[in-house]
Amino acid sequence: MLQTRSVHTPATRRDGLRILVARFRGRGLPADRYDVWMPSLGPSERLLRSFLDGKTDWRSFAKRYREQLFAPASIDGENKTIKNHGQKSTLRLLKHLSEVGNVTLLCHCHEDVKQCHRHLLEAALRSKSLAVGFVVLARRAGRAELAWIASGLFAAGVLYPLMGWSTHGVGGMPVEWGGVALFGILAGLGVAVSAWFLMLGWGLHAFWDLLLPWVADTAYVPPWYAAACLGFDLVVAAAMAVRAWRGAPDLAGPAGAH
Ligand SMILES: [Zn+2]
Repeated sequence: MLQTRSVHTPATRRDGLRILVARFRGRGLPADRYDVWMPSLGPSERLLRSFLDGKTDWRSFAKRYREQLFAPASIDGENKTIKNHGQKSTLRLLKHLSEVGNVTLLCHCHEDVKQCHRHLLEAALRSKSLAVGFVVLARRAGRAELAWIASGLFAAGVLYPLMGWSTHGVGGMPVEWGGVALFGILAGLGVAVSAWFLMLGWGLHAFWDLLLPWVADTAYVPPWYAAACLGFDLVVAAAMAVRAWRGAPDLAGPAGAH
């Protein structure tokens, strides 16, 4: 299991491996607050400073931070075949550790700070592993694969109003319900007519994650969710596209036509 916390929040037994993912260790911070300190997973000093000074907004900060995670170092120039690609293999290791045990990513920011890079890091680790797991599970379902992928698409649509239910009420989310209808219809068409509708639906949902914060009040969405969901959507859509391209009979033609 993967989670993020403030390093100032006392550890619990469920935290597992506590990793401080900040560039600074923090003066006076007791060393028993974390197990490992990984400064390379924090935003660069310059980027963090610019964000804290208000010279960089959250969106640009998030984009730059993700770029920094994969930014090549000088050693990449010496490797022609397999390059380091920044923290790529470190992220892979963390992902694996969080699948076989508990991992907690820690930053100095307080627990309720949403605009903290640790949420972006969590999203980066979550989206791919979840999506790959989903695609593999769906494929194992054999003939029910499309039904699985369609249910997932519908669920992705329903998740927004479900998350906002307690704060916005059922009637306070017209845009979100519109999304439920849209993705529900695409899911249905995907099963009944052609799997291409599913691919389209998952692709559109990625745009939905980007668009929704602009057209609706999505304060109820956890900070890591939109980015994680976006990555998830793209991986599922891409996985389906690759299979269709290779001519998987259940995906290339109308569903159930074989
Ligand atoms: Zn932080």
